[in-house]
Amino acid sequence: MSLNPLLAPISSLLDYAAIRPEHIESAIPALIEDARQAVERAADPALPLSWNAIIEPLEDASERLWRAWSAAGHLNSVVNTPEIRNAYNACLPAITAYSTWVGLHRGLYAQYRRLRDSSAYAELSASRRRIVELALRDFRLSGVELEGEARERYTVISDELAQASQKFSENALDAVDHWELLITDDARLGGIPADVLEEARAGAEAVGHTGWKLTLKMPCYLPVMQHARDRALREQMYRGYATIASDQGDARYDNSALIERLLALRAEESALLGYACFADMRLETRMADTPAQVLEFLRALAARARPYGERDLAELREFAERELGLDDLQPWDIPFVSERLREARYAYSEEDVRQYFTEARVLEGLFEVVGRLFDVRLSPLAAPVWHDDARACDIQDSEGRSLGTLYLDLYARQGKQSGAWVDSERSRRRGPAGLQTPVVYLTCNFSRPSAGRPCLLTHDDVITLFHESGHALHALLSRVDDPGASPFASVEWDAIELPSQFMENFCWEWSVIQSLTRHVDTGEALPRDLYDKMLAARNFQSGMQMLRQIEFSLFDMLIHRRNAGLSIAEVMATLDEVRREVAVIVPPSWHRFPHNFSHLFAGGYGAGYYSYKWAEVLSADAYAAFEEAAVQGADGTRDTLDAATGRRFLDEILAVGGVRPAAESFRAFRGREPSLEALLRHSGMADEAPAH
Ligand SMILES: [Zn+2]
Repeated sequence: MSLNPLLAPISSLLDYAAIRPEHIESAIPALIEDARQAVERAADPALPLSWNAIIEPLEDASERLWRAWSAAGHLNSVVNTPEIRNAYNACLPAITAYSTWVGLHRGLYAQYRRLRDSSAYAELSASRRRIVELALRDFRLSGVELEGEARERYTVISDELAQASQKFSENALDAVDHWELLITDDARLGGIPADVLEEARAGAEAVGHTGWKLTLKMPCYLPVMQHARDRALREQMYRGYATIASDQGDARYDNSALIERLLALRAEESALLGYACFADMRLETRMADTPAQVLEFLRALAARARPYGERDLAELREFAERELGLDDLQPWDIPFVSERLREARYAYSEEDVRQYFTEARVLEGLFEVVGRLFDVRLSPLAAPVWHDDARACDIQDSEGRSLGTLYLDLYARQGKQSGAWVDSERSRRRGPAGLQTPVVYLTCNFSRPSAGRPCLLTHDDVITLFHESGHALHALLSRVDDPGASPFASVEWDAIELPSQFMENFCWEWSVIQSLTRHVDTGEALPRDLYDKMLAARNFQSGMQMLRQIEFSLFDMLIHRRNAGLSIAEVMATLDEVRREVAVIVPPSWHRFPHNFSHLFAGGYGAGYYSYKWAEVLSADAYAAFEEAAVQGADGTRDTLDAATGRRFLDEILAVGGVRPAAESFRAFRGREPSLEALLRHSGMADEAPAH
């Protein structure tokens, strides 16, 4: 067998075209073994207490392992075949076991502590001192300090938590899978889009029925709720969805006991590690300091959003009564009436808009934006890739020095995971062999170009591309010389969306839109009247939407701020209290929202749901600095691509990665604490009180 491309020197670009599944299966175990040996050597108490003796060799081994594993994971996500999946899955348990083992390695932990307490510590750079501090924190959070019974109990809790989360998500999925509504009277289907009905008819036929099978899966549920004229049908569907995996639905999948179990285990886990509650433990690694600070933040935002939410609901009620003859608006009417109101007010065709956003022009425009803001250039790079769709770019500073490599893979295809994301293959590092630049993947799932027609993007696609480019720039423009303090390794989780959401703002800026658009047939830029319609529709019901997000966030923080578990009755009572405080729409008493809230109980968002709004406030406020610096053109058009402000954003936010806390970076850029005003203004909620 030829050389394994995954074992290529870290300084070279990987030969993606040459990587075979068997390369994954042979490289990963070998690299794990190397890394294990490096850990054992680093833990040797006889070593001199210095960065170069202890941490440098450890980083050499672990970056080789994580680069290969990142590449394997990437291929598994974007060119999935049974062979790659098998190879990846075969290595997964060993990777997990290795990570757990390192996190609980007492000898290595002791070594980091000795280094921290030694005279060598003061001599380390700021970024290296922070890496040591963060490593010590993560060791403690993984339970390394626990002894005897506590240590055993901690292991049991971790296993049980993993199983309970898994079961929670299975119940939610199974409950959806086993719910169906068979309709045989087509009079009940008025308003539902033809493609949804076609699916529903095929669904019924597949199980030997005539008629239409409606389900709670989003591609069916959402359009039915938005468009079905049969009010009783909407109510049936709503009730089905609102009671998923609860005592009010199919009893086989009731998540009530699992919610109680998860909350009790989380409280116990945090107590073992010395925290007063799960939320305190979670916030240890976040930009937000305390649960009280988060609650105050959410309540301040709610107070400002509430009048707008009330206005949104009043408008909806009034429209329902006047135009649709509904004088008692119910929760199952809201998506339907909202769609009718949206059509009446903001009708424009997404398809028309799409004709202006050709992929080539959008990418050129994006590169221009990035170039003007951060004084860098992106150019094509000849490098082997995993698929014909993918391409590599070199990003260079104004003097032509390469800063990093960006792989773009933009089209949907068979065997590619849906969604859009950015991942890092290797981080910037200044090591014994010189400077190593970052390598980043940016993946999207846009519709591929059809024969003779370029790829056209929807405005949402363009926003997605800008969002992901923000993540990519965070890694590519980092000036952090140690991988341990690189953006993706150490920026707090509730601040990591700052650069990405920041970039989205440019997709709404008229001057930028002009440079992003060329009609596929006429070559014209997007006309002003179409832009105005998009802008008006942008903030449709923003008050109600914001209150809903705040409701979820408050609920999440409150149930995780207790030092013991809660009964399901207490969980529901907490939700009722939160709704009384912030919601404008109060669902029926049989509604069981928590039972299907997988973000909290099966995902990583426990005591973290607030981070969506938190990061939006940061990114909107950061963008406001560009609005303040904008120059007004003769025609009144403003230009927000201010180079000096871009330079400061680069210096204070992007380039510093996780070398210092995100709160400090934000203050350094903005000269003050984050403010809610910009997000409220961008969401159409700027005035103290809305005009009715
Ligand atoms: Zn993101």
